[in-house]
Amino acid sequence: MKVGVAKEIAPGERRVALVPESIDRLRAAGISVFVERGAGAEAAFPDNAYVEAGARIVATAALYSNCDVILRINRPTPTETKYTHAGQAIIGMLAPLLDPEAMVEFAGKDLTTVSLDAIPRTLSRAQGMDALSSQANVAGYKAVLVAADAFGRYFPLLTTSAGTAKPANVLILGIGVAGLQAIATARRLGAQVKAYDVRPETKEQAESLGAQFVTLKSAVDGAGAGGYARALTAEEQAAQQAELNQIIGKQDVVITTAQVPGRRPPVLVTTEAVAAMRAGSIIVDMAASELGGNCELSQPGKMVLTSNGIQIHAPLNLPASMPTGASLFYSRNISNLLLNFVKNGELQFDFEDDITAATVITYGGKVVQEAVKKLLQPAQPGGAKA
Ligand code: NAD
Repeated sequence: MKVGVAKEIAPGERRVALVPESIDRLRAAGISVFVERGAGAEAAFPDNAYVEAGARIVATAALYSNCDVILRINRPTPTETKYTHAGQAIIGMLAPLLDPEAMVEFAGKDLTTVSLDAIPRTLSRAQGMDALSSQANVAGYKAVLVAADAFGRYFPLLTTSAGTAKPANVLILGIGVAGLQAIATARRLGAQVKAYDVRPETKEQAESLGAQFVTLKSAVDGAGAGGYARALTAEEQAAQQAELNQIIGKQDVVITTAQVPGRRPPVLVTTEAVAAMRAGSIIVDMAASELGGNCELSQPGKMVLTSNGIQIHAPLNLPASMPTGASLFYSRNISNLLLNFVKNGELQFDFEDDITAATVITYGGKVVQEAVKKLLQPAQPGGAKA
């Protein structure tokens, strides 16, 4: 079986799906690895490192025409899709729930698509394939560095001959994978860290990393299905907001990571809350995208400086800003998933298997993954899906 590693062409993307250290494992399973010229260059994996590890370097057209499987970070663009051929498998972070129609197009071209972001995350067997977690980890770490770099003062308590610098007060909103790494990183830099989440089980996790958990008087249990949060009702959200505003105004740095599956991220830092912050304070909104963000004033991909001197950063692809480390993790995730499907040197899908059922989105010319199929069903009168 021939497996190809694509060069990512999305603006700002610097990661690569497979790094040289993973090639040995694939070769041991009977796989030949082909790498698109320059695929790893921006992540500090030059072509010669792949050649030394046993891969062949090829041009774009040769990669797509020769290989049975293409490994990627992002969904292929329409230009790249033109190079694909029927029966070929594409594995990457395809975001099928955000754009189910794109999956219909892949099925129409008889592409087998496998999406790493659809991994059943709580299945222990799948943990080594969980690219959402590995990349959120990188993002949580990098968000703190963005904040520390922008902040005009120290994070740690410093006692010097010129006097004492107070430690920075950092608030992390949302204690999932990224939030936990942000807590740990801010603590390592010496900040005083507070953290808040609607899922009560996060209290112990935050405290074990040295953060003080913020307990609101209006707190409700916001745990939803599968370990994720549910969307709060308007009343719950308003009560939460009033209390959060008081706390946000006292912070030097606020890092927001709150997401609710399939919904716009909740607004946790309002215009009013930003107005109450001191000049020089920093907000990093990790949830910002075209759908909105956790801060009302965020502009996705930009830094906004407010009239009262607050910087609001809304980086769009933090993992790509640490491409070597992020690619090393991703490469292990995608190799584990690929090898899960390889039997006797070929891709074989057992749809009774939880990992296969969740991650294989299109197969045999059809959309086969249940959640995507549901999104594609025609809406019934009254707005419900069939
Ligand atoms: P996520 O990106 O969906 O959300 C980030 C955090 O925001 C979550 O902790 C969520 O509770 C919080 N949030 C949502 N609405 C909020 C609000 N209004 N106010 C405050 N916080 C709010 O989360 P994630 O990092 O992808 O993790 C989701 C879940 O998956 C967690 O329970 C995590 O432990 C679990 N998980 C489990 C495994 C595993 O079992 N191996 C692996 C990865 C993740």
